[in-house]
Amino acid sequence: MSEQRRIRVLDPRLANQIAAGEVVERPASVVKELVENAIDAGSRRIEVELEAGGARLIRVRDDGGGIEEADLPLALSRHATSKIVSLEELEGVASLGFRGEALASISSVSRLELASNVDDDPTAGWRVVAEGRQMEPRVSPVPHPRGTSVTVRDLFFNTPARRKFLRTEKTEYGHVEEAFRRLALSRFDMAWTLRHNHKTVHQLPAADDPAGHERRVAALLGKTFLDNALHLDLSAGHLRLSGWVGLPTHSRAQADQQYFFVNGRVVRDRLVAHAIRQAYRDVLFHGRHPVFVLYLQLDPAVVDVNVHPTKHEVRFRDGRLVHDFLFSSLHRALAEARPGEGAGVET
Ligand code: ADP
Ligand code: MG
Repeated sequence: MSEQRRIRVLDPRLANQIAAGEVVERPASVVKELVENAIDAGSRRIEVELEAGGARLIRVRDDGGGIEEADLPLALSRHATSKIVSLEELEGVASLGFRGEALASISSVSRLELASNVDDDPTAGWRVVAEGRQMEPRVSPVPHPRGTSVTVRDLFFNTPARRKFLRTEKTEYGHVEEAFRRLALSRFDMAWTLRHNHKTVHQLPAADDPAGHERRVAALLGKTFLDNALHLDLSAGHLRLSGWVGLPTHSRAQADQQYFFVNGRVVRDRLVAHAIRQAYRDVLFHGRHPVFVLYLQLDPAVVDVNVHPTKHEVRFRDGRLVHDFLFSSLHRALAEARPGEGAGVET
């Protein structure tokens, strides 16, 4: 007969490994979390490096503000964040992160090294290493330029059940490249590099003019996308919608090449999807999918991003208003578009 088990508080590392299930699904989710941290740190340049689709190595380097020596071990602990201190701040949050969970989760299921420097002196860096449940929060000096590097080796080495769910190198790499594409489309003002197995796949300079933006879109989504898309930039009240929508003549069999950003954060939202589908309803053949890269900007206070740990979902305070704005903007733009016409729509 089994003895009744007593209730105990989980060991913190085990709690992190359980929480990791929510945010760390595969190498692509690690890349997303690390790059979002680099963006939040005010970086101008981000480099992503992978080996074996990310299963062997993921490294994200940035030139952002860095982490103070004394804060390094804290950065790896759960619910430790520099981004918000109160519920009021959460309600207007502009940073991509705020839950203080990613580094704790990732380090609990990998061999992680965090190196950083807040100084312009490149010999003045510090690093901290964590390996699965054996965390060694000892900080040691390491030369590092201003900014931060996070190296994640052997993802899921200590959670074999999860490791088994990793697909082939090619598949995992594909997911990482997709995550990279979304991130690089979210910030034209930053320079990006993606390297896989020591080969440079993408090298995207910072772009601050429309031509540069289009070069980046073409580099990430292909020239065909751009040649068959309409540029738009429309505002109504505090709402602004800009980006590129594919002409109805350039639809796809699959719902890929659909990127929608809300205040710089890529989201998958039913309300947004519905508004776009409605706008294309009369101009697209049944079963075909439109392509788009769209940016919605609105007051952060009227959108809740704390709906899901991956923050892929959002909740709009006035969903109806957002839906109608999206629908009418796109509907109008598509109605005015003549096939073969590259002209944009602006207000
Ligand atoms: P969150 O992003 O939700 O705050 P994370 O676990 O992702 O939580 O990161 C914890 C903290 O570590 C951040 O709040 C930030 O202070 C620091 N940090 C992480 N990555 C970086 C980075 N690339 N540059 C500067 N600080 C960082
Ligand atoms: Mg984060």
